[in-house]
Amino acid sequence: MKAINPRTGETDYEFAESSLGEVAAAAQRLRDRQADWEKKGPEARAKVLVAMAEAVEARSADIADALAIDTGRQAVARMEAFGFAGSLRRWAARGPELFAGLPRDRRPSATPGVELETRYSAYPLFGAIAPWNFPVILSHIDANAALMAGSAALVKPSEITPRWVEPMREVLAQVPELPLEYVMGGPEVGQALIEQVDYVCFTGSTATGRKVAEAAARNLIPANLELGGKDPLIVTASADPIWAAQVALRASIVATGQACQSIERIYVAREIAELFLEELVRGAEAVELAYPDPGKGHLGPFIFPPQASKVAEQIDTAHAAGARVLTGGEVENHGGGAWMRPTILTDVTPDMAVIREETFGPVLPVIVYDDIGDAIAQANDTTYGLSAAVLAGSLDEAAEVGAQIDAGAISLQDGAMTSMVNDATNMSRKTSGLGPSRMGDEGMLRFLRQQALIRRVTEAPTIEAYAEDAR
Ligand code: NAD
Repeated sequence: MKAINPRTGETDYEFAESSLGEVAAAAQRLRDRQADWEKKGPEARAKVLVAMAEAVEARSADIADALAIDTGRQAVARMEAFGFAGSLRRWAARGPELFAGLPRDRRPSATPGVELETRYSAYPLFGAIAPWNFPVILSHIDANAALMAGSAALVKPSEITPRWVEPMREVLAQVPELPLEYVMGGPEVGQALIEQVDYVCFTGSTATGRKVAEAAARNLIPANLELGGKDPLIVTASADPIWAAQVALRASIVATGQACQSIERIYVAREIAELFLEELVRGAEAVELAYPDPGKGHLGPFIFPPQASKVAEQIDTAHAAGARVLTGGEVENHGGGAWMRPTILTDVTPDMAVIREETFGPVLPVIVYDDIGDAIAQANDTTYGLSAAVLAGSLDEAAEVGAQIDAGAISLQDGAMTSMVNDATNMSRKTSGLGPSRMGDEGMLRFLRQQALIRRVTEAPTIEAYAEDAR
């Protein structure tokens, strides 16, 4: 398979797609190793996770360099390499505590003459299918927790961003105890992975999520889905408009808006709308593209070139239907890559694609509201329910508004905090996801199967207890 360099538009990388036989062989190797891995116990597994974190940190420059070519951005690539190591360390610290706290003791059942005991065993083979927007973090976010739980992990990274896997495989070779392998390829390899594993975690688009859920349903395995979003931000009349605009801008355009939790719709109270928009435009125009020097500026190129045309189409159709583009709005070609400056739209209406569909670009459509009840209703008028944000004059007011939004996680007095706060247990709603939280302790506990040992402590009844004349 071939991959495109997002900064040059050139196809400059080739890699071998895993055959279906190779996916099956990797799964079998991992299954063969899993029982010993689980038997080691949580403390010993935690030590291996820390050894992997140290190995990743020691080679972080190589991983980040490869990832920087995959994604066209440098600072976020470094954050991803260290973020992966940080996640391994977090689970290494928290996992043994969680195992120690599991209720296992014998206890009386509500059924007379019976005592209960619970045992825990991990799903043997965990599988992950990851997207291209944060390729390293999203390939491992669930796998790290599954490994801590005692599963072996088979991971399929996105075929759009494959370069980081080469240095990572070298790192992995230094920690041979860790039962983790990668398989490479597109949809067919993703489907082949689902055929092999006992539990699948998918991060990606809602459309693909449905296909993953269907395949998992056919195999009767659990599927956790982390899908798209159309996150709303409500800015109330009591908020400081300058501060609110600065927070809104950052929460919308980080990583060129190619993050599921990016703010993609803004509802601002009419009282402060003018000042808010003025500052938003000023801030947007001060943002610089990380071009030509990839080490300077704020925004990288579109990682996946077709994404640029999808974003442009949403802007163009909104413009044709009466929306005003206050700044930005054009796909710019620099050095062969596709770029976009922060784009601010007003006079948008709720029926426009830029309000209804996921954009995944640095685009901020702003709707001015007169009534907070109407703003909340508009924020909830969506098929998505990933996350949302509220900026107000006080935390209490923000919390009151936030509680009325139908989404899995609400950032108050900030935006897009879900990806930064690892212990915020949350479940995506509507078409944004399915299954237990990947954040918080639930992130690991979901991989443990509970087995009940049902102990009869009195004499077991015989068939005579069921005789027709016995009662
Ligand atoms: P995508 O759905 O196109 O692909 C994701 C992965 O699925 C890739 O590895 C791909 O090869 C694989 N795949 C494609 N078809 C498949 C099939 N039929 N069966 C099995 N696997 C298949 O997503 P993308 O374009 O790479 O990523 C962008 C999307 O991811 C956006 O919608 C974004 O919102 C979402 N996302 C969600 C979260 C979250 O936590 N909710 C985080 C990041 C990204």
